[in-house]
Amino acid sequence: MFLKNYILDIYKAIKSLLVGLRRTGYYFTHHKEIITQQYPDNRATLSLPERFKGEVVMPHDDNNEHRCTGCTACELACPNGTIKVITQFDITPEGKKKKAIDKLVYHLELCTMCNLCIIACPSDAIKMAQTFEHSVFDRSELTKILNKPGSKIMDGVE
Ligand code: SF4
Ligand code: SF4
Repeated sequence: MFLKNYILDIYKAIKSLLVGLRRTGYYFTHHKEIITQQYPDNRATLSLPERFKGEVVMPHDDNNEHRCTGCTACELACPNGTIKVITQFDITPEGKKKKAIDKLVYHLELCTMCNLCIIACPSDAIKMAQTFEHSVFDRSELTKILNKPGSKIMDGVE
């Protein structure tokens, strides 16, 4: 009985090995079907899936203007406190007080890339970027201010 099981195990192992080798041999002759990426050697040609999410960012235009009104909807939508919106009051040309963003603080180290903040933003002020090489030696570097220094809100965004 023991010998029978022993031989059976060897048979199964060889069969499993051949199945694996068959698959390997297949890819030797079907290079275009290989989906494994040779990262990091292929940085220049790396292809990420369209829906891959790597980081929340706030786009700015050539005039250093963004679309963030400081409404805090993203902060409220975030399930784990990754975003903190710090607001201030600007004075409009008409002399009225208007709420504006001071800093949008984003803790990348907490972000689960759930996309809820992006969906909640009524002004399309933030989006997901596909950057993903986020390793740092100092964790504080993962706390980012998304609005650039000296930036302001675009005209017409309320
Ligand atoms: S993607 Fe999700 S976890 Fe990250 S900041 Fe937005 S709501 Fe928060
Ligand atoms: S990023 Fe969008 S949701 Fe967040 S404060 Fe700015 S305008 Fe509001």
